[in-house]
Amino acid sequence: MESVLKAHRGGESVLDLSPRWTVGGGVEDVYGEDRATEDQLVTPWTVSVASGYSLLRDPHHNKGLAFNEKERDAHYLRGLLPPAIICQELQEKKLLHSLRQYDLPLHKYMAMMELEERNERLFYKLLIDNVEELLPVVYTPTVGEACQKYGSIFRRPQGLYISLKEKGKVLEVLRNWPQRTIQVIVVTDGERILGLGDLGCQGMGIPVGKLALYTALGGVRPSGCLPITIDVGTNNEQLLNDEFYIGLKQKRATGKEYYDFLHEFMTAVKQNYGEKVLIQFEDFANHNAFELLARYATTHLVFNDDIQGTTSVVLAGLVASLKLLGGTLADYRFLFFGVGEAGTGIAELIAIEMSKQSKIPVEETRKMIWLVDSKGLIVNSRKESLQHLKKPWAHEHVPVHNLLDAVKAIKPTALIGTSGVGKTFTKEVVEAIASFNQKPLIMALSNPTSQSECTAEEAYTWTEGRAIFASGSPFNPVEFNGKRFVPGQANNAYIFPGLGFGLVISGAIRVHDDMLLAASEALAGQVTDEHCHMGMIYPPLSNIRKISAHIAANVAAKAYELGLATQLPRPADLVKYAESCMYTPSYRSYR
Ligand code: NAD
Repeated sequence: MESVLKAHRGGESVLDLSPRWTVGGGVEDVYGEDRATEDQLVTPWTVSVASGYSLLRDPHHNKGLAFNEKERDAHYLRGLLPPAIICQELQEKKLLHSLRQYDLPLHKYMAMMELEERNERLFYKLLIDNVEELLPVVYTPTVGEACQKYGSIFRRPQGLYISLKEKGKVLEVLRNWPQRTIQVIVVTDGERILGLGDLGCQGMGIPVGKLALYTALGGVRPSGCLPITIDVGTNNEQLLNDEFYIGLKQKRATGKEYYDFLHEFMTAVKQNYGEKVLIQFEDFANHNAFELLARYATTHLVFNDDIQGTTSVVLAGLVASLKLLGGTLADYRFLFFGVGEAGTGIAELIAIEMSKQSKIPVEETRKMIWLVDSKGLIVNSRKESLQHLKKPWAHEHVPVHNLLDAVKAIKPTALIGTSGVGKTFTKEVVEAIASFNQKPLIMALSNPTSQSECTAEEAYTWTEGRAIFASGSPFNPVEFNGKRFVPGQANNAYIFPGLGFGLVISGAIRVHDDMLLAASEALAGQVTDEHCHMGMIYPPLSNIRKISAHIAANVAAKAYELGLATQLPRPADLVKYAESCMYTPSYRSYR
């Protein structure tokens, strides 16, 4: 028995399109407003289901007890559900209540994943309406534990696994994915999952979680998102010896074999989905992350959140802090502790923004930024022995061997920690920076909380409440001398969903540094005087959909300005346009 479901919004009558049969013989879902992110047209959809029983097991259309009497009659649901009708809001309330009963974050994570597999719209409604509470459940830190235990919590495959076994057949594998119109791919090879190292094939939790945020925070429709894990083996001995490990049991392929395979993947993606699909590289090891970005930035729409997302969110915090400090970025001196992916990426974007603001060449603005690695200050005399990525930051100075002496020598306005090593902004270091700044800017970006360079409380206490503080991991507000300080969290989730959405709605074909700057400026623009008063240099995450719309609009505007947008003509009001394209998780009414 077949029924045809027709969705209509706001009581509008809808066209009755015939089902679209896909190559594989299934029915392709053609979403209405969800599709707006792709072609600007609000298109009603039709989809055939075999029976009410199948409808209840289809997470894209299932509404559980929210099916009304008419729908239960029309779609063969009578008897398959208990008699009560429970609206989406009530379902959400019940779910939130039961989620809060779990003590362990991992159990909450599993319950959320199970919900996503059962009822996609309810999953997104819950996440969107409770973003501050549930972000740490579906993403960091819980997702890290989920990846570590992926073998044992794995129930149903999510996303696409492309392993070396599929060498030469990657295009065929992509064609096995049921959706044809993909807008954002998040891909990992699992080599450096968060701070947890090589988790091989179990890294899949990361692309899945990240794409959930693209939808919930950014508004990209779920069916436009494709999580991919590339399995080239793992060097994690524990996994290799684990009888339940789900990935390839071999050492990682490297060098030519690795890059040839990645190239086959990149070529197949472009061939299958065209030039406008965003490929976000996630949690690749350092050397591959930089290399892949460099190789494909001019031929594909690629983005690396660990490098570019981080830089953009930190820059936004710095730009917002100017409201508290006054002046421009070029008036400041920056000192970084830890010179890896995040540190060098942030330093470079600051130098570019300074250069833009002050019209000073970037070679000169770099000189206002100093970096400290495990051997001390990066200075010219060390240049010969420095890694390639550190060389641009070697300035003229006598050698300085530790952070405290570097702070005293450089007298920075801002101290930024990206070393991954906790407790390194000691009382002496913080007091030193506070001794020559009325409002020292301290960013302790290392994660997780235990690795934070200092805590919010330490920063406020040791500076007698003068610090402007932000961190990578969240800290609770701090009371000091009767004043309440709200520490900022430089969470990448502020930037990448809006940035990606801006690329999608403008049909951008390349990511340009200016788009990252545009994203930073838009985020900084959402910090109000009221926020500043509490020491906040990031707006509250609870406003994230509005923030993302502004970021998307600014990024799209830049894409049009640079001639990189293909979605023509350019909408006049890009903020309104972005808002109108955003996926909303409310249930549809079925005729
Ligand atoms: P990375 O491994 O690329 O870089 C860390 C660098 O610090 C390495 O070069 C390492 O050699 C150096 N280092 C290690 N110990 C040191 C020491 N004792 N003294 C000086 N330098 C030392 O890692 P990454 O991706 O750059 O991330 C660094 C940290 O930043 C991580 O803790 C990560 O969680 C955090 N991070 C935060 C955000 C955010 O807040 N939005 C984003 C990205 C990364």
